[in-house]
Amino acid sequence: MVDYPVHSHDLVIIGGGLTGLRAAIESSKADFDVAVVSKVHPLRSHSVAAQGGINAALANAVGGEDDSWERHAFDTVKGSDYLADQDAVEIMCKEAPRAVIELEHMGTVFSRMKDGRIAQRPFGGAGFPRTCYAADRTGHNLLHTLFEQANSRDITIYPEYYVTSLVKDGGRCVGCTALNIADGTLHGFAAKAVLQATGGYGHLFARSTNALINTGDGAALAYRAGVLLEDMEFVQFHPTTLYGTNILITEGARGEGGYLYNNKHERFMKNYAPKAMELAPRDIVARAIQTEIDERRGFEGEYVHLDLTHLGADKINQRLPGIRLISMDFAGIDPIAEPISVQPGQHYSMGGIAVNTKGETELTGLYAAGECSCVSVHGANRLGGNSLLETVVFGKLVGGEIAQKLPSISKPSTEPLKEACRKESERIDKLLLREEGERVSNIREELRKMMFDHFGVFRDEKTMKEGLEKLHMLQKRFSNAYIDNKDLVFNYTLIYTLELEGMLLIAEALALGAIERRESRGSHFRTDYPKRDDEKFLVHTMAYYRDGKTELEYAPVTLGIFPVKERVY
Ligand SMILES: Cc1cc2nc3c(=O)[nH]c(=O)nc-3n(C[C@H](O)[C@H](O)[C@H](O)COP(=O)(O)OP(=O)(O)OC[C@H]3O[C@@H](n4cnc5c(N)ncnc54)[C@H](O)[C@@H]3O)c2cc1C
Repeated sequence: MVDYPVHSHDLVIIGGGLTGLRAAIESSKADFDVAVVSKVHPLRSHSVAAQGGINAALANAVGGEDDSWERHAFDTVKGSDYLADQDAVEIMCKEAPRAVIELEHMGTVFSRMKDGRIAQRPFGGAGFPRTCYAADRTGHNLLHTLFEQANSRDITIYPEYYVTSLVKDGGRCVGCTALNIADGTLHGFAAKAVLQATGGYGHLFARSTNALINTGDGAALAYRAGVLLEDMEFVQFHPTTLYGTNILITEGARGEGGYLYNNKHERFMKNYAPKAMELAPRDIVARAIQTEIDERRGFEGEYVHLDLTHLGADKINQRLPGIRLISMDFAGIDPIAEPISVQPGQHYSMGGIAVNTKGETELTGLYAAGECSCVSVHGANRLGGNSLLETVVFGKLVGGEIAQKLPSISKPSTEPLKEACRKESERIDKLLLREEGERVSNIREELRKMMFDHFGVFRDEKTMKEGLEKLHMLQKRFSNAYIDNKDLVFNYTLIYTLELEGMLLIAEALALGAIERRESRGSHFRTDYPKRDDEKFLVHTMAYYRDGKTELEYAPVTLGIFPVKERVY
């Protein structure tokens, strides 16, 4: 019988992005034995791609002197279409200035004002210039800073280990199993506590700005372990992704003064958000662009123009150098000379693993934070710059919470981990031994296209129900999926297959949540129910996985100092 290796640590963190590393730094302070397990090298986590910036009411910028955490919180709650939990928003916005200064002290090279203070740019849905940035490469700067900090501590990192299941013993999470991608061996990770920092599920959709790895594994792992998923139907579509590849063109481009034009050379945002114009929140701008395209005021029936030419070469080179390079390399457009072709694309997962403000899930010993979780600070629509903030604020907070509890938790036995490895090995063998069937890549691409077409910027009952039927067909086809590459060394077809299994599962929670939410709120816009319905739907959708089936329940929203109002910009 194979003897599976089991690695024991006090805390195992799944995910090496900003959330995972920030939590690791915090929890390792008290000399706990902390490990980070990640399916890619931590520096390849999607956090590295963040462009525009991180919000904090520092009140540095000209015109932003009166900013405060309360104003940041108000903008966040209004931006969320009042679905965010106000206790969580309060924690995040109060902590923000401290979190940004702390990142600066750790070594992040933020862009600066002439007097040396951290510069702040305007962002969508924000009443003040509040977004701190490092040119248009903020995530790159932050992730490298935290990785350096993590390396200077005694944190064990397991890069390129793909977590396949969470392991329970006596109703408690005691670790996980993971496949070493380099050689295909299964390993057990025993821990007193497990923190999921596994990022979003954006790759469920075609036309996504997200990395290939953002397949929502974390949500699927937790869901299979009986943990609730919250508000999965809320998916952010970013207004400006590059036509052709859907690489993100940061909101910072509009924050620096970029204009949106249709094919009549009209700044059409005046018809949708006359005050905020291009800096209305993302859901509103994305719908405006899609409407222009659908009503034939776009170009080639596919995109509109984002014009930066009036900003001048100096500003573009200084503030948006990455955007210039992306536009030139991937579309042959130099934004100094001509407008960029943009269309809406999937960008962010507001829903995720249901947690309280301490990062606790329903399962003892299992915590979650960052984009994989739903705490919920973004509600029905996230404001740009708030997600990087969430990763560092809740990464630190939850890392600290766990560290406090660790001394009172006993070390789990390794036996359940070995048993789980045996089961996982059987599951993987079954996939690898199948000699014929359908190629996984077909099912995966059809799923992504279906999700974009049936659960995209605009939704309605009929289209979504057709989508759900297609999803059931795809789930059936998966039972006959076949992996042609039987090798164990770096078998990415196997990883894609395991990811796809999870994607097909959580897509159902998303689809049912969207069908049952018969109202329009934030990113979830239904042409058949175009109004928000607070009486019935000022609630969080909670998806359970019971006896192989998805069931929905609803939970109240935590309200606070900001009364629920109509949302106008
Ligand atoms: C192009 C782009 C630009 C953005 N720009 C901004 C911005 O300017 N401002 C802002 O606030 N937000 C921005 N965002 C959003 C923000 O970057 C993310 O929400 C945030 O970085 C997520 O961090 P995270 O640590 O939660 O997850 P991630 O950085 O996505 O990390 C997830 C980690 O989990 C690991 N993992 C996942 N599944 C498994 C598994 N099965 N086994 C092992 N490991 C696993 C991965 O290896 C990875 O290390 C942007 C997002 C994108 C896509």
